[in-house]
Amino acid sequence: MKIGAPSMIDTLPEVPVERLPRVLLVEDDPQLRPALQRALASRFEVTAVASAEAAEGAVRVSRFDAILSDVHLGGVDGLEFLRRVHQIDGALPVLLMTGAPSLESAVRAVELGAIRYFLKPLRIEEVREALQAAVRKERSDGRRQEDAKLTAALRAMRMHYQPIVELARRRVVGYEALVRTAGRDPKALIDLATQLGREHELGRAVRQSVAANTETLPQGIDVYVNLQSIELCDEQLYAPDSPLSRLAPRVVLELTERAPLEAVPDLKDRLARLRKLGYRLAIDDLGAGYAGLTSVALVEPEVVKIDMSLIRDLHLNETKRRLVASLLTACRELEVQIVCEGVELPAERDALVELGCELFQGYLFARPAAGFPEPAW
Ligand code: C2E
Ligand code: MG
Ligand code: MG
Repeated sequence: MKIGAPSMIDTLPEVPVERLPRVLLVEDDPQLRPALQRALASRFEVTAVASAEAAEGAVRVSRFDAILSDVHLGGVDGLEFLRRVHQIDGALPVLLMTGAPSLESAVRAVELGAIRYFLKPLRIEEVREALQAAVRKERSDGRRQEDAKLTAALRAMRMHYQPIVELARRRVVGYEALVRTAGRDPKALIDLATQLGREHELGRAVRQSVAANTETLPQGIDVYVNLQSIELCDEQLYAPDSPLSRLAPRVVLELTERAPLEAVPDLKDRLARLRKLGYRLAIDDLGAGYAGLTSVALVEPEVVKIDMSLIRDLHLNETKRRLVASLLTACRELEVQIVCEGVELPAERDALVELGCELFQGYLFARPAAGFPEPAW
């Protein structure tokens, strides 16, 4: 992760904490197996098994960074095991060792993709170093693959839109922009970008795409754009000539608290800069647990969106009705607009209308779709 906001970074979902690399040791010699396991234990988390069959089972259920296997095993031998492993995971590094080397088996090992062929007795330091090099390479290859996946996902990315309606006047007041890409739900896409430290790239792509789409949206209809907290640390967001900033007076930025807002350095100042550009701010998913009421006090939003967990079956649940009623009262006093999200049933809509809610979003009116779908009344 790059941006200069250490306190924020500490709180974000990160690449998994450094752990010892996991090595699967396959050795049928009952003395050598524990001796090797001990010799490797300071630098690797070693799982030791006595047969290729057991090892194959382990590879199917657990994730290893490298395998160190004897060639001559009772039952399935190390070469056949290597072939099977690479059918399961073609990128998993396998290092072989043998007490009875032959040119034929060495050639076969190379053909099957073994990365080392050690002769016994082993020089343990050499084995450790080779394992470490294999793990390092596997990790950087893995990172490259993930980066390539994200790049492809960003290329295939497009925005869908879901209307927010003012029911009494049968009119669309805005559209929420929701990111879509082939084969990944938006949260998985966001998680991948965050893990790779490329969340600003995703955010910029979203904002650019929304800005281009909004050109075709009739005046008087706003666009609601989701922002992760960390996006508040992207200076590009505040550039007056960025694609979205030029449309700022039509844009409501929804703050989703996947990382707590409190952790954003100079939050007040950043929010003030956004407002100066003309943006309005919303707290998304109010009532979902992680977006606490404190975020309303912190942001003083123009809009709050009530999470669908409070909306669901509210017509059958007195407690939910009372909670929504008290949120409505508080928001009215604070002059904050309320949008009810995730309305699916006519009965939910009617109960919300009875409580005095005016703005709605949900499958009942329209599902998110490309373009700007018309709601059904
Ligand atoms: P959200 O911002 O709360 O968006 C509402 C989610 O509820 C959307 O899911 C939408 O498709 C879904 N939804 C709308 N109406 C209904 C309904 O009646 N019933 C049900 N069951 N669901 C409904 P989606 O598109 O999968 O997005 C999930 C979350 O991912 C969003 O929640 C938002 O937090 C995040 N997200 C989506 N697009 C973006 C984006 O462009 N940028 C950022 N930072 N986050 C995004
Ligand atoms: Mg949202
Ligand atoms: Mg929401």
